[in-house]
Amino acid sequence: MARNITPFLNKFFALRCRPSYFSTSFQDNPVFDMENPFEKEEEKCILCKHEIQVDYKNVKLLSQFQSPYTGRIYGRHITRLCKQQQELVEKEIVKAQNAGLMATYLKEAVYLEDPKLFDPENPIRPHRF
Ligand SMILES: [Zn+2]
Repeated sequence: MARNITPFLNKFFALRCRPSYFSTSFQDNPVFDMENPFEKEEEKCILCKHEIQVDYKNVKLLSQFQSPYTGRIYGRHITRLCKQQQELVEKEIVKAQNAGLMATYLKEAVYLEDPKLFDPENPIRPHRF
């Protein structure tokens, strides 16, 4: 006994696939009108956070990124700067040293008491300077 089910299918799809069927079902969804509370705050380095322009003439700022013992420039794992700012700081320090504004083998004694922008004793990984 073969039955023609085409009329039933047509009626089924006519009911289920109506645009109003979908729109009413979506209206039943809860509306989330709030921001994601679990989203982490974007981390910014200290120079980006305060929008500080690094310049080779600002020796007081640049000397913060220099070790008082060896005069070496602290790495990114100590300064916690972003890559762009770290490269800029290193470039500007070399520029200031070549211009004779900054010492190369030590930190100027007048800058030794300056407040610390980061803690060299607490780097992301250990260092020798
Ligand atoms: Zn940055």
